[in-house]
Amino acid sequence: MRKKIVAGNWKMNKTLEEANILATEVKGMVADEVKGNVEVILCVPFPYLAQLTKLIGTGTRISVAAQNCSQHESGAYTGEVSASMLTSVGVKSVILGHSERRQYFGEDGQLLAKKIDIAQKHGLTPIFCCGEPLEVRESNGHEDLVKRQVEEALFHLSAAQLQKLVIAYEPVWAIGTGKTASAQQAQDMHAVIRKHLASKYSQAVADEITILYGGSVTAANAKELFACPDVDGGLVGGASLKSRDFTEIVKSI
Ligand code: PEP
Repeated sequence: MRKKIVAGNWKMNKTLEEANILATEVKGMVADEVKGNVEVILCVPFPYLAQLTKLIGTGTRISVAAQNCSQHESGAYTGEVSASMLTSVGVKSVILGHSERRQYFGEDGQLLAKKIDIAQKHGLTPIFCCGEPLEVRESNGHEDLVKRQVEEALFHLSAAQLQKLVIAYEPVWAIGTGKTASAQQAQDMHAVIRKHLASKYSQAVADEITILYGGSVTAANAKELFACPDVDGGLVGGASLKSRDFTEIVKSI
């Protein structure tokens, strides 16, 4: 049975003090909800990773993730953070290819393939994001674009490597806009992604991959989205910044 995950992407928000409060509250509030095959991941800014991995601790199904990592091992890359640095502070997973990284930092499929490789080499689970901008959805090119994003970044992986990552489908037009994909739109695209994985690998492999939906997930719409057969949880931005809202979303899984 594939894993169900609710991940909160804090983006570039919170001071250290606020981050400690939010993580402590979330840990207390979701502890009873994360059982069976459910996991909760807090994707926090780099400076807070070491402290929050300690605060969350081990032996729980809650973990802390980074929001990006370098494609390089180490060296003269001022301002960058490597995969081995992340694992050295206890981080287990990393978001790669978020649309904000694609849009503002020019990250493309070729670069993301390298980032996926180095993350996996160091034992990190990539949470690979894909999704189309509004104009592509409006011109009906969304399925082709998302399939291409998946191919470019993931299709060089072996089946065993593919099974060690999580995919997040995040239509760009729904991120931070308050516009959510309908449950049908989310299900349709998740099914397209899974079918595409099955065509390259096998149905059995594709059936094991957790595919999250992201884009204005809230306590009000989470239940309907998570009820879709190919939606295995959510990557939550804005609503992950308030412990109560995030907890309600976790309860919907
Ligand atoms: C995100 O940042 O991945 C995201 C989905 O944000 P929001 O939930 O705010 O749309």
